[in-house]
Amino acid sequence: MIQRSERLNNVSYDLFGPLYERAKELEQEGHPIMKLNIGNPAPFGFQAPPEVVQHVISNLSNAQGYSDHRGLLSAREAVKRHYTTKGVAHVHTDDIFLGNGLSELIMYAVEALLNEGDEVLVPMPDYPLWTAAVRFSGGKAVHYLCDEEADWYPDVQDIKRKLTPRTRALVLINPNNPTGAVYSREVLQELVKLAEEHQLVIFSDEIYDKILYDATAFTSAATLSDSVLCVTFSGLSKNYLAAGYRAGWMLVSGAKHKAQSYIGGLNTLASLRVCSNVPAQFAIEAALNGQQSIHELTKPDGRLGQQRAICYEKLTAIPGITCVKPKGAFYMFPKLDVKKFNIKDDQQFALDLLANQHVLLVQGSGFNWHQPDHFRVVYLPEKLELSRTLDKIAAFLQSYRQV
Ligand code: PLP
Repeated sequence: MIQRSERLNNVSYDLFGPLYERAKELEQEGHPIMKLNIGNPAPFGFQAPPEVVQHVISNLSNAQGYSDHRGLLSAREAVKRHYTTKGVAHVHTDDIFLGNGLSELIMYAVEALLNEGDEVLVPMPDYPLWTAAVRFSGGKAVHYLCDEEADWYPDVQDIKRKLTPRTRALVLINPNNPTGAVYSREVLQELVKLAEEHQLVIFSDEIYDKILYDATAFTSAATLSDSVLCVTFSGLSKNYLAAGYRAGWMLVSGAKHKAQSYIGGLNTLASLRVCSNVPAQFAIEAALNGQQSIHELTKPDGRLGQQRAICYEKLTAIPGITCVKPKGAFYMFPKLDVKKFNIKDDQQFALDLLANQHVLLVQGSGFNWHQPDHFRVVYLPEKLELSRTLDKIAAFLQSYRQV
């Protein structure tokens, strides 16, 4: 018997979990499935900005060799300008790492930090890669509550209660997947202060930082303090609708003088895979220097703005469902009345919906949520398709009671 490594115990990623496998079987049996399990804009007809695609094509012949392990200098300079303009102090290109998507960089950032048993404060609900990365690295993911009653903001008291001498880092996902929350400057200031006091590294996942509605302002945690070590993540998958390019970056800023060993570790991990895909690195400079066309899509009459409105209206009209309206990203994380539907197992709920209506969603526990009373909707399908899908969810819930 060939056993998987013990490091994979308790590591999961339900976006491609058992539900996804069941959806593929149904598809093979000839049933078309509405796949709302992952935030991948291209299959729903979104296109990356033309200047980004064109720049990659024009540079394909220049992209045949390896780059520096951190990435092309021209792309890192674009990232540097981006954060300097936002107000991050002392940004240096040596502290910027380009990766095959953020996913790869999240793994590096966590692996380079943790020793066995170290703790990381991870939001609940979270984007599940964060919990998986901590566990895979031998750490303990300690989930702190994001409070639905308070617009899904982090519960600072809960974070304080969960701090221990083993706590090494605090993860922020802002704008948040799956809740769509965008944190205020004030709450971020409180969290940064806490990180300063307890010498925690802040991992700030800001992959949706340009997908904002209702003129919501966005604050990058790294702009708030020089004395805390902050690792900020973003990339092209969402803001530039180019998830398949696998292009992301991370910036180390703030208390770098205290973190030379850690930054050295990041360099080691980045160099072990030589460099990230070079054509995709060209896309990064074109994206950051180009039109920021995503802003058109998030306006009330833009495609994402309209889909958000329909999704919210239709979901909240379903008896037994409530939902906090998201301020960013392209997800909703509605709450189910578990008594009404008798839901004890949220994965079973999602499997039943899949079998009954051929709609693939991910249940709340897939985002490490602690109760079986939530699920996530991806509102990327265009209006008509989205509307039909929500009608199917409504029809299913009209008579659903879990046995
Ligand atoms: N972080 C968050 C919060 C995400 O939602 C995603 C993708 O859905 C990622 C990271 C991974 O992004 P990438 O496509 O750059 O690997």
